[in-house]
Amino acid sequence: MTTVLDGNAVSEQIRETLGSCVDQLGDAGVTPGLATVLMSDDAASETYVRMKRRACDELGVESVHREIDPDAPADELFETVSALNEDPAVHGILVQMPVPDHVDRRRVLRSIAPAKDVDGFHPENVGRLVAGHPRFKPCTPHGIQKLLEVAGVDPEGTDAVVVGRSDIVGKPMVNLLIQKAPGGNATVTVCHSRTDDLASHTRRADIVIAAAGYPELVDGSMLSEGVVVIDVGVNRVDADTEKGYELVGDVEFDSAREKASVITPVPGGVGPMTITMLLYNTVRAASMLEDVEVSGLAEAAAWGDEDG
Ligand code: NAD
Repeated sequence: MTTVLDGNAVSEQIRETLGSCVDQLGDAGVTPGLATVLMSDDAASETYVRMKRRACDELGVESVHREIDPDAPADELFETVSALNEDPAVHGILVQMPVPDHVDRRRVLRSIAPAKDVDGFHPENVGRLVAGHPRFKPCTPHGIQKLLEVAGVDPEGTDAVVVGRSDIVGKPMVNLLIQKAPGGNATVTVCHSRTDDLASHTRRADIVIAAAGYPELVDGSMLSEGVVVIDVGVNRVDADTEKGYELVGDVEFDSAREKASVITPVPGGVGPMTITMLLYNTVRAASMLEDVEVSGLAEAAAWGDEDG
């Protein structure tokens, strides 16, 4: 029997827990606030920001939105972030990527106050994650850790293969899995675009996490019996649908399912967890910045693991 993990159901449960945390903050006179900054005309980026803001509204998190003309000078973005850093009503700041070419992406990440960096991409927060005392775990890998926990899959002692080495998914995923901490202790192989013979690695893995952004890169023939498969990929491929496309993952679901003990679908697997863990980080940021202790917050995190 293969378990198909329902990311929407897991998310709903976590959001319920977070709701009670928001209530507790409210009792202390604090409304958590998340600022989203968009400097792009890209339709996908607009959709992501809209989804994040809607999730905030539903949870009772105040969402503040700033839109900057993509042709404006880079300083306009930096001044906006700087003002949000100083704004006491804002506990989390997120600049939607990608930013236009004339804006230095790394400087954007460095410009966000680390205590409000709910994406966890500021070098200080990356360093803390690597050093083993994370402040904010990046949302997608943290959501994956949580899904594994809920599925009863402990990475300890397993061989895990992460396909992809991006700063937002692959690398932080590896860093979480190798930590000597709950939800970690795996032996991890990182595969990427220059890896020779991907299948030779995935075939001997107990856990495969596919985050390459390449449609159906991993199929059943590349997997061993009983493997746990986490599909991060979201790829648009042409299809005979109303929209003219459909979304597929980095894993060929049907053949992978034949081999897997646990698998995530696309859509409805990792995707909803990413926004949920953003909400978690925002509530946590508010609790830390306002110095209000919130009971139950750790339950929302993977393996109840909180640091800071
Ligand atoms: P990215 O393009 O920044 O990185 C992709 C990585 O995959 C690179 O490190 C590259 O070396 C590796 N790669 C590419 N082709 C490969 C191949 N043939 N074999 C092995 N490795 C290969 O992408 P990203 O931002 O990490 O996102 C990856 C995918 O996950 C995308 O489809 C993206 O849309 C999706 N994503 C989903 C969520 C979510 O919440 N569901 C969040 C972030 C990203």
